[in-house]
Parts: sequence; structure tokens; C-alpha cells
Amino acid sequence: MNSLSEFDIIKRYFSFADVLPNSDADTLVGIGDDAAVIDVQKNPLVVATDTLIEGVHFPADFLAEHVASRAMGVNLSDFAAMGATPRWMTMALSLPQVEDEWLSAFSQQLAQICQQHNVTLIGGDTTRIDKGLVISLTLIGETQSKSGVCLRRNGAQVGDDVWVSGSLGKGAGALQLLMPSENIMQWPCSDDARSELLSSFYAPEPRLALGKALVGIASSAIDISDGLVADANHIATQSQVQIMLQGDALPIHSGLAAHANYQQVQQWVLSGGDEYELLFTATPEKFAAIQAISLALDLPCTKVGTVGEAKEGGVGVTVSDEGWSAQNQKGYTHF
Ligand code: ADP
Ligand code: MG
Repeated sequence: MNSLSEFDIIKRYFSFADVLPNSDADTLVGIGDDAAVIDVQKNPLVVATDTLIEGVHFPADFLAEHVASRAMGVNLSDFAAMGATPRWMTMALSLPQVEDEWLSAFSQQLAQICQQHNVTLIGGDTTRIDKGLVISLTLIGETQSKSGVCLRRNGAQVGDDVWVSGSLGKGAGALQLLMPSENIMQWPCSDDARSELLSSFYAPEPRLALGKALVGIASSAIDISDGLVADANHIATQSQVQIMLQGDALPIHSGLAAHANYQQVQQWVLSGGDEYELLFTATPEKFAAIQAISLALDLPCTKVGTVGEAKEGGVGVTVSDEGWSAQNQKGYTHF
């Protein structure tokens, strides 16, 4: 199958926007020309890029469909955190080799998720790389209204409540299942919990509906990709406040309950990345509104702390309750 040229690859695997139903009328020129043309007559544009590197963001033996679902989930999660609606996407793909089976599984999964979220793949670039797959997606979309209002990291106010969606510890737990580094006896993980944790790693579920519903309600938001404390710190820094988390209020994924080492679980919850939940702040008056959204979306949202004044030591994150501490919870950084 190595005889496929890059043009064959594009035609065969990535031109699915042409054949999907409800083809997007606002894509005036899609794949096949020197550039795409989109008709943007509505709201301000939102653009986000994320790159996934084999061996860094996913293990080398990751299935093609998981590379696709993880790449899409991670990118869509940024849109969720902005309360924005994704519409179009470009993809830069660097492949070490051309394998028909791999490309076929990858593109089918990609097409399915694009369709699910009404995203049109309008272009990209396909190149060869010596080793290790690299996939970079750029999502383009729009804000909820003409005004351009969206969720930002810089709006948290002293006195706000701090909330988190879903449950925590999933990303670190899944990594441990994929690449065990500890005595597995410590964690007799049930089959159900195992498959739930792994599927949230293979296909993170972007909290798009929650993000949209929180526009006008939350004062700030971020998606937890690097780790709870690290990402809370981004809100703290950009809003010039203290994020004061209550350790015992944090919603720990039920699959981690059987773990014998609670300290280890605490560590995962505070500094494990790959949660793709939303961390957000809102005034206490919005409590009932957030509960109503949570109920309507069937997605738990938990109040996990409050916003305080930046202390003398500066802005930052604190975690109260026994055994919890924000210290040394750096989260994931590339450099
Ligand atoms: P050029 O040489 O003019 O840059 P390319 O050969 O790179 O054109 O790409 C041809 C067409 O295929 C373009 O419309 C481009 O956007 C699209 N394309 C290339 N690679 C991908 C990809 N991985 N996913 C989606 N579209 C792609
Ligand atoms: Mg090109």
C-alpha cells in the first residue's frame, strides 16, 4: 500500500466532507484546492490548534481510531472551555509510513466525530516524518452571539464559587492502567471501572454542551488538560485571585475508590492531566442555575471551592482538608 501518493491519501481518506450528509453550505471551497474558503457571516470566529505526538500524548501502540478520537476530543475540549461552537477543521498529518488499514480506521473515526459535532474538515497538509506520528488539528468555529461573548480564564471574582464537571483522577488512572508503574495489587480495579477509565482516555468527551450553557453564567472557565492544580493556577494568574479548593469536595472517579493508596489517588486528582472536564467559577447566586444545567445535561457539576483575594504571596491555588496540598502539584509541562 506504500504506493499511495499523498494526493491518493487525501482523496481516499480525508475527503469525507463531500459525502457526509448535511454538507456544510458555508464551506465554499473545501479540500482539493490551494486553500479553503468559508463563508463567515455570523458571529466572531474562534480558532484553536492542538498537536498530538506519538510517545508524548499517546503510546506508540495506540489504535488508529483512538488516535483520531483522542485528537478530536482534546481539540474540541478547548472549544468547550470557551463556550464556543466548532464548525470547521484543518489537519496537519505527519506519517512515518502509509498503511491502508491504519488510515482507513483513522479516517472513519475522524469522519464519525466530525459528523457528530457538525464539523467540516476543510483542508490540511499531509507529510512524511522519519518516525513517530504527529497530528495537529486546527478547529475554527464561532462564539454564541454577535457580541463575541465567551468563557475566559480571566473573569474569576473574589467570592465566586469554584466548580468542576464530571469526575477527576480519570486521566492519571487510565495512564496507570495503560502503563502500570506500581504494584497492581494496590488497585483491584473492576472491569467496568477499567473500561470506563480507558474509554475516557481513548475518547475524551468534550463538555461542549456544558460550555455553551455556561456562557453568561460562569465568570471564568478552563478545561483540565494539564492537571487540576496547574489549570486552576491559570485561572488564578489570569484573574489575579486565589483559587481555594476543598480537597474533600473533589469528585473522585468511582473507579479509583478501590485503590488501597489514598495518597496516590489524591496526587492523581490534583496533578494528573487528561481529565477534559471543565473547571469554572460563578457567583454564588448562580448556584441553582448551574444545578439546573447539570441536571438538564445529566452531567454532575460539583462545587469544589471558592475564590479568594490574591494573598501577599501572590496569586495561586490552595487545597484544604487533611492529606491534600497544592504544593508540588505542577501538572504536565512540555519543557
Ligand atoms: P498544496 O501543495 O497546494 O499545499 P496539498 O497537496 O498540500 O496542496 O493539499 C491538497 C489539498 O488537500 C488541499 O486542499 C489541502 O487543504 C488538502 N489536504 C492535504 N492534507 C490534508 C489532510 N491531512 N486533511 C485534510 N485535507 C488535507
Ligand atoms: Mg499544502
